[in-house]
Amino acid sequence: MRQTGRAWIELDFDNLGNNVRQLQRILPAGCKLMPAVKADAYGHGACLIGKALWNMGIRDFCVASVDEAIELRECGITGRILILGYTSPCRFQDLEKYRLIQTVVDYAYAQELNCYGSMLTVHVGVDTGMHRLGERSDSIEKIARLWKLQNLKITGVFSHLCASDGMTKEERKYTLRQINDFNGLVEELHKRGIGGFKTHLQGSYGVLNYPELSYDYARVGIALYGVLSNPDDRTIADVSLKPVMALKAKLVCVKKLYAGEAAGYGLAFTAQKEMKLGVVSIGYADGIPRELSNRGHALVNGKRAPIIGRVCMDQLMLDISGAGKVSVEDDVVFIGRSGGKEISAEEMAHEAGTISNDILSGIGKRVIRKNAVS
Ligand SMILES: *Cc1c(COP(=O)(O)O)cnc(C)c1O
Repeated sequence: MRQTGRAWIELDFDNLGNNVRQLQRILPAGCKLMPAVKADAYGHGACLIGKALWNMGIRDFCVASVDEAIELRECGITGRILILGYTSPCRFQDLEKYRLIQTVVDYAYAQELNCYGSMLTVHVGVDTGMHRLGERSDSIEKIARLWKLQNLKITGVFSHLCASDGMTKEERKYTLRQINDFNGLVEELHKRGIGGFKTHLQGSYGVLNYPELSYDYARVGIALYGVLSNPDDRTIADVSLKPVMALKAKLVCVKKLYAGEAAGYGLAFTAQKEMKLGVVSIGYADGIPRELSNRGHALVNGKRAPIIGRVCMDQLMLDISGAGKVSVEDDVVFIGRSGGKEISAEEMAHEAGTISNDILSGIGKRVIRKNAVS
């Protein structure tokens, strides 16, 4: 079937299933996946991914905001949904209405939640060194006092690692210290007779580099989508992750460019010799970073074609001189395979000077999400 849109992504649910199984295989028995489906499931489409995971037996999810959680509810996800970010008190009624789990970002915020009036379910965020959200792990008295707040139903305690992707001695040491502090806190709570809560600490790299850890949940995002953050990342666990997303657009215009002629805004590219130029219907508003101007690549007809000139908002130009016989309406692949060649999200991110998480979550609203055509 031919795509009718200008730019689209294709999802490979077999690969998603593979990634779920691969991650479950390396996690200790009893540890469940809590997929991160924030930022529209890292650009893949929250409903499509949420439902697919649901059909694979996943019942726990985490998102960044209350609106992302409501979106999941509205597409029929009835499992547990944890909001990892701050929710304004004026939205607390939605926590109750949609039966969502809110992160306690610190003690003062817990008091706000407690004042809402009805029982709210929460997970306590603990700061073990990232210094983003969470009550400090050394504030043990304050953390223990949270269980005295009568309108809070505390079903989880968690923290977040901030250097688990790193393999330097310093990063390993910092991460082990975070793990230690988190375990120490949990142990101390148990000693005080406080229990009945689930624990979780690892994101993707926490699982891939510290697979021996054993908590109730692992909050995996990027790895579930079959992608690492950087192309040269090495991990301790041996897993075979496969990319879920392909990003494609259409070739919409083909023309000659003569030696000495410029292409695009700002005369940023000049042809050294006569060449074939292809215009593609995708641009920075669709999530192709402007940093790829004169440096990124796409696949046309199984051949690598360099991006020439500046990436525009809705379009970009490729040098398709080496792509052989092409015609308007041909698919152009930015992430994924064409013929025997492949461009990974990691490679595209690397060329743009960022991480694949940034690329995937930045894919624009206009890009059509659909299932892979087989
Ligand atoms: C986004 C996020 C995750 C998932 O991170 P990945 O590295 O993509 O697996 C886990 N925990 C928290 C708190 C997050 O914000």
